[in-house]
Amino acid sequence: MILGKCPYCDNGEIEVREKEVRGKKVKLYACSNAHWMSEDGEMYELTQESTCDFRIWQNTLARYGKWLSYKEVRELLSEGEIEVELLSKKYGKKINYTKTAILNQEYGVSIIWD
Ligand SMILES: [Zn+2]
Repeated sequence: MILGKCPYCDNGEIEVREKEVRGKKVKLYACSNAHWMSEDGEMYELTQESTCDFRIWQNTLARYGKWLSYKEVRELLSEGEIEVELLSKKYGKKINYTKTAILNQEYGVSIIWD
């Protein structure tokens, strides 16, 4: 499944890949020009044919209680930013708050903390 055009290379498209990280199923939204040699641990090495390394892990914002859906990634790729609802558990309380997430070449997504 293709979610949109890669923002960081000419002909790449962001596709959905099923991954397993430490026994957990996680989706990786990765550029079609990016391929890694080992994908089972924390270290990733790009294959020689790879011309791009852009990817967004579905659980990249999991520590804020947020998993990125297809719809959100589509919107992020087309608009460059989305509103996300995050969850904070500070002081024993759960607090929902809304922030803007933007594309980040290195991390996939980053949050604007104003
Ligand atoms: Zn790309």
